[in-house]
Formats: sequence, structure tokens, C-alpha cells
Amino acid sequence: MTTPPTPDAALPPFSGDNPLCGKCSHVDAYTDYRAAGEYSSNERPRSAPSPKGERLERTCGRCGFIWDEALVPPGELIDSPLPDTAVTVAELAEALQESHAGWPLGLSPACAEAAAEQLLDRLRVYHRTGTPASPATTLTDQKATS
Ligand SMILES: [Zn+2]
Repeated sequence: MTTPPTPDAALPPFSGDNPLCGKCSHVDAYTDYRAAGEYSSNERPRSAPSPKGERLERTCGRCGFIWDEALVPPGELIDSPLPDTAVTVAELAEALQESHAGWPLGLSPACAEAAAEQLLDRLRVYHRTGTPASPATTLTDQKATS
């Protein structure tokens, strides 16, 4: 006799497109569907089916840590909020201006903000772990000292 599959209620809910790895705090993971009885990619298959039920297997994009999450209930949409490490338009605009310092033609704040908005419409950008956001005065301070 086999053990019945684990019900989905025992799994944490699906964490969406911006999951936070519990081992290395990286914000990104691959997702693979696993059918009931299918072994996870970090398990050695045996002769009997896995006792696990249907689930979504998440694999951290940085460290490879694997964890299971519940399926999304039918009809439910996942609205993934951006994590705290996501870069804002203002922060990206400031970084663009800072990276443009020293070039013959300056990058106006309005142009940097427009570029930042367009980039964030296409890309997900995050602060590197341990790298705090630059204070808003950094660019002004650099210009004042140069
Ligand atoms: Zn990780």
C-alpha cells in the first residue's frame, strides 16, 4: 500500500515571479511543474511513486536550492509584488546620471528619468545584496567636489 499524496494545503502558496530564496536571499527562481507521485529533481527516484502530490518545484537561480510550492488555484491570478530590493525609477535615474559623469555631454535629470522608466518597463533591476541605495545627495556632492 502506498502513502497518499501530500495535499496541496501542506505546501506554502506559490510565491510568484519574484520568489526570495530562503538560503541565499536571491530574488529569482525557476519553476517546474511536478505531477503527483513524481520525484523532485533533488530526490533519487525509487520503485514506488513519490508520496508528494502535485506541486510547483522552485529552484533558486543562484544557489540551486530547491523547494516546493502549491499550485495556483484555478482562476486565481498571481500578482507578484516587487521585492524590497527592486530598484525604483528615481534610483535608476540617479545611477544613470552617476554612470554618465565625466562624459562630454551631460545627462539631464529628465532624460535620465525617462530612460529609467523605459528600462524598468522592460527589465527587472535589483540592488545587489549588501549594496544600499545611494543617497539622493550623492550626485550633487560629486558635482560640487569636481
Ligand atoms: Zn538561493
